[in-house]
Amino acid sequence: PPTSTTRVALVTGAANGIGRTIALRLAADGLDIALNDLPTHLPALGALVAEIEGAGQRAVAVTGDVAQEADVRAMVEEAVSKLGRLDVMVANAGIPGGGSVMDADIAKWEKCWEVNIRGVLLCYKYAARQMVAQGEGGRIIGASSLCGQRGFARLGAYCISKAAVRSLTQTAALELREHGITVNAYAPGVIDTPMTRMPATAGLDRTHSAGIEAKQVRCFHGQCLAKFGLGLTKGGPQLLKLPADVRTGEPADVAALVAFLASRDANFMTGQTVSVDDGVHFS
Ligand code: NAD
Repeated sequence: PPTSTTRVALVTGAANGIGRTIALRLAADGLDIALNDLPTHLPALGALVAEIEGAGQRAVAVTGDVAQEADVRAMVEEAVSKLGRLDVMVANAGIPGGGSVMDADIAKWEKCWEVNIRGVLLCYKYAARQMVAQGEGGRIIGASSLCGQRGFARLGAYCISKAAVRSLTQTAALELREHGITVNAYAPGVIDTPMTRMPATAGLDRTHSAGIEAKQVRCFHGQCLAKFGLGLTKGGPQLLKLPADVRTGEPADVAALVAFLASRDANFMTGQTVSVDDGVHFS
């Protein structure tokens, strides 16, 4: 049985961007936080631990690769042994992945899937086991995307992985309903994070990149998609048709949704993938 009454969340990919902001938001909401990211990000996690503890909540860094089953099992065990229980899992870690279908480099596509869907599945698996053992319900939350709601040219590897998160979330929700565990996902549009600021290299298939502005760009006014280093140039290929007035969101916009999904108020809501994208997915 749990030894602590304070609710505990584990957030993966917490060293940067959306994950970092989710961790801070859940801590502000009174949860103790286990922070996961790759071992190379331990210094950033250490600083975040100090920030959260300075604000009065307990925090611990649990490094590991979410694509590795042994790592995920160990990070859940460590979180529980150090913080006493697990009530909320936020399977946030994800990486970009692109390239055309015709020239798909299977190894590269699988690398994206390893983190974005296998990683999320493993987080769901070990969180669910712990929550079922505790017998007090729980909240499992995964990272989907606007790219999981519809297809985008040359972003297939990523789109597939994020659509898979949406499907997995429904399956897990049905299986865990009887245990009082809800499973939901968030589907952000373009959010201002290190991922969307990365230089124009990630997974871009150069063979088909003619006309694509290959430089670091920001996504606003429908002109570009920085997430994968893809930009829409004048007269270039229409990779992403965003409405002219599309806006870039902030990590806090996503964290606010996750805070609700993690709360007791979201008790009657499960299997949902909730868009937080300024309406882009239906416009
Ligand atoms: P980010 O790149 O800024 O941060 C992601 C973090 O995940 C990094 O700290 C990275 O080190 C970590 N990570 C990567 N692989 C990992 C692994 N195997 N194990 C553990 N940690 C790992 O990304 P972000 O923009 O904050 O995105 C967070 C999530 O939201 C991702 O799943 C992303 O696909 C999704 N998302 C982001 C956007 C956006 O516009 N930023 C939009 C839709 C969905």
